[in-house]
Amino acid sequence: MANACGCDHDPATWASQVERACLRQGAQLTPLRRRVLDILSVSAAPLGAYAILEELSRREGKQVAPPTVYRTLDFFLEHGFVHKIESLNAYAPCEHLDHAHDGMLLICQSCGRSEEIEDPAVTRAIAGSAAAAGFTLRRVMVEAQGLCRKCGEVRQSARAPAVA
Ligand SMILES: [Zn+2]
Ligand SMILES: [Zn+2]
Repeated sequence: MANACGCDHDPATWASQVERACLRQGAQLTPLRRRVLDILSVSAAPLGAYAILEELSRREGKQVAPPTVYRTLDFFLEHGFVHKIESLNAYAPCEHLDHAHDGMLLICQSCGRSEEIEDPAVTRAIAGSAAAAGFTLRRVMVEAQGLCRKCGEVRQSARAPAVA
């Protein structure tokens, strides 16, 4: 599926994008980072640090210490490979690795998936308000909660009358 800026959403694409970005930036994708990358890429919905820790421990066959996971997530955050969704305390793959961006995360409250979209008009509006308040803006990520198209359609059809 293509989104507002035409990037596609395939998780396998994300993982290989991260690999290429690491090569470009001279960042090292250690076996541990690779495993966390894989866990995030196959998950349909954003994952909390605890869920990542559980899955990592399961794959390693031993209990992994929380700081290990946080250090790995910090690495992904620093390089812009993932977004932290503050309102969910969860991590989602960044779907626009190839360009710097501000954006909006649309978070579905029914299935838990998040979709990242970019709308320069929103960013401009926020930048304008911030500037008017004398605020120097560094990063914008708007988090919006609601229903994704799929879940919205399910609601709609459930509410439709049974008789014509
Ligand atoms: Zn992003
Ligand atoms: Zn949904």
